[in-house]
Amino acid sequence: MTDFTMDTDADGVAVITWDVPGKSMNVLRREAVDVLEALIDNALADPAVKGIVITSGKDSFAGGMDLNVLARIRDEAGEDPAPALFEFTMNAHRFMRKIERAGMDPKTNKGGKPVACAIPGTCAGIGTEIALCTHRRFMADNPKARIGLPEILVGLFPGAGGTTRYSRMVGAMQAAPVLLEGKMLDPKGAKSAQLIDEVVPHGQLLARAKEWVLGASDADIVKPWDQKGWKMPGGAPYHPAGFMTFVGASAMINGKTKGVYPAAKALLSAVYEGALVDFDTALRIEARWFVSVLLNPSSSAMIRSLFLNKEALEKGANRPAVADQTVRKLGILGAGMMGAGIGYVAANAGIEVVLIDAAQDAADRGKAHAEGILDKGIKRGRVTAEKKAEVLGRITATTDYDALKGCDLIVEAVFEDVGVKAEVTKKVLAVVGPDCIFATNTSTLPITELAKASDKPDQFIGIHFFSPVDKMALVEIIKGAKTGDVAVAKALDFVRQIRKTPIVVNDARFFYANRCIIPYINEGIRMVAEGVAPALIENAAKLVGMPLGPLQLTDETSLDLGAKIAKATKAAMGAAYDDTVDPVIFGMVEAGRLGRKANAGFYAYDEKGQRLGLWDGLAAHYPVAGEQPDLTAVQHRLLFAQVLEAVRALEDGVLTDIREGDVGAILGWGFAPWSGGPFSWLDILGTPYAAERCDQLQAAYGDRFACPALLREMADKGQSFYGRFGTGVDSKAA
Ligand code: NAD
Repeated sequence: MTDFTMDTDADGVAVITWDVPGKSMNVLRREAVDVLEALIDNALADPAVKGIVITSGKDSFAGGMDLNVLARIRDEAGEDPAPALFEFTMNAHRFMRKIERAGMDPKTNKGGKPVACAIPGTCAGIGTEIALCTHRRFMADNPKARIGLPEILVGLFPGAGGTTRYSRMVGAMQAAPVLLEGKMLDPKGAKSAQLIDEVVPHGQLLARAKEWVLGASDADIVKPWDQKGWKMPGGAPYHPAGFMTFVGASAMINGKTKGVYPAAKALLSAVYEGALVDFDTALRIEARWFVSVLLNPSSSAMIRSLFLNKEALEKGANRPAVADQTVRKLGILGAGMMGAGIGYVAANAGIEVVLIDAAQDAADRGKAHAEGILDKGIKRGRVTAEKKAEVLGRITATTDYDALKGCDLIVEAVFEDVGVKAEVTKKVLAVVGPDCIFATNTSTLPITELAKASDKPDQFIGIHFFSPVDKMALVEIIKGAKTGDVAVAKALDFVRQIRKTPIVVNDARFFYANRCIIPYINEGIRMVAEGVAPALIENAAKLVGMPLGPLQLTDETSLDLGAKIAKATKAAMGAAYDDTVDPVIFGMVEAGRLGRKANAGFYAYDEKGQRLGLWDGLAAHYPVAGEQPDLTAVQHRLLFAQVLEAVRALEDGVLTDIREGDVGAILGWGFAPWSGGPFSWLDILGTPYAAERCDQLQAAYGDRFACPALLREMADKGQSFYGRFGTGVDSKAA
């Protein structure tokens, strides 16, 4: 294995280069740990070596740990994986401690060899933890590079010493944005956060690190916590200042995570308990908490969905095997909220964009939207004036359909109206070449129906973006009955170009995401009508990890949209339509309480649009009942309303891959991320219990909770969703 190689120069500096063959970014593989340790051992033992520089052979330093390693250790260890995971973690600590102590005398702290880290670009996770155990960190002045410890975002925390080291370097309070929020910092920010010591011009990175190594004294390489009299910056827990920090941090974490993310709490416990003891004991404590998080089903589910499967989908897990379909020239019809957003993300990704609207000023407004986003980026120092000019230079705002000549992909985002959409489809097809793929961004109209406006339905597809386009990571690709493989590949390649995450679903009412979110909203509104306290509904949702309660979500998306969808659904479903929530929605619309856009909805707002609290007038229409349901009952109604729809989507063949169902739910509508998604949540509950709960909910609240046949069958057989439907990498990680 050649992930790490070492080369000692004439001055006696051993340069260890990390360069995983065949990968664009380094990830730490299981066997590579031993390779790196052997090189460190050799360098420390070799009298000709004066010091060590660890660097990377790539533009970046490292993406982190190969998370499959942890899953594999867990799987290999069988029934009781805790000891194997603990041993693996402690081994990492021991080896990093070896780098940190660098052969120095344990009593005098003298005689060690200086170890520096030269970081050419982005550095995350265990890459940063390796850097933190060296004695000085140099980072190239690449403004696009980021460094940090983002483990918390996939349900873990830095468990290879990063938590203990960094909190001891800067104190618990200062460490919070990096450890608890997983903030990735640019080189300048990283220097002020003390993640690195020096920002160096790119060409001088290695030379500067070597120079430091050759000039470093014994005192330069002893970590503060290995010196006598060391005290935790900001105060240890029993110091008055430390007490304030930890009490505040504990409240803040519980406020933010609502107690559903085990990693955040475990991280804080590791910092708190670690601060009371010596460094090596603190590392043991960190390892214990790390293993407890690894064994929590929420963490495995989050890693599986938010890391492994998200990446697999982005790399084209469900892409048909056809030639590369990279988009070169994109035509967008309708420069409104969605069209303008799509135009910006495409131009930003280097694609030439033609943005068409019925009137020139509307097209110009669409382009101005991109300008607004770029200006904000300039203000924040993330975008340069040249970049802005370059991106805007790629967008042609016009009313002239002739400008669409040469487009290889069209995304239509005009009004949600079959007639209008059919008319523009025909106009476009008269201009573009025979291979052009036509996509619609409709959120409610069946793709198969809209495809009738085209004489090439195999080249017609749905590419459904979420609002706001520049922020939302998910794109739902919808196959109509006749959509062909090239169209699917085109849509997937486009989504990859704009660096978003795709799911591919089959055509059906509301596709996948909206199909599941509507029952959530309706369940919340239904409870209002029943007299459940609105605050209980909203808080129950948030306490189970939903980013917005159903009533707030309704306000954000607007009640008139809800009324429009209700009318359209009723028209389509006829007698099968359940109209329980209609009086509430239509009543609110009649009262002008349309949601945030009207500064009035289920919530009250001040004149600046600031949300104040739940609207107290609601109780006059829907009195709060004297007896209230318990929290879990409300939470289960809200979650089952969504997950049963996801199961039905799988039964109906709308979803063909549960990985997409889980990743799409979290990225598309924020489904309780701690759970790993609807299917992961059902697996955490266990299908037998989930089916039993369906029966109870059905008896208490109605047939919408009836257990789907698939879930019943799986419960009877004792199957899990990932056991039965998981494919490729995800089934290993389960
Ligand atoms: P919008 O009203 O903001 O924009 C529509 C634009 O299309 C307007 O600028 C309008 O002038 C233009 N237009 C209308 N008829 C046209 C024609 N014949 N030729 C050229 N331009 C024409 O609407 P939006 O919110 O951007 O939605 C557009 C589409 O995206 C709809 O199909 C909608 O269902 C879908 N969608 C919306 C959202 C959302 O959150 N708003 C999310 C996903 C999908």
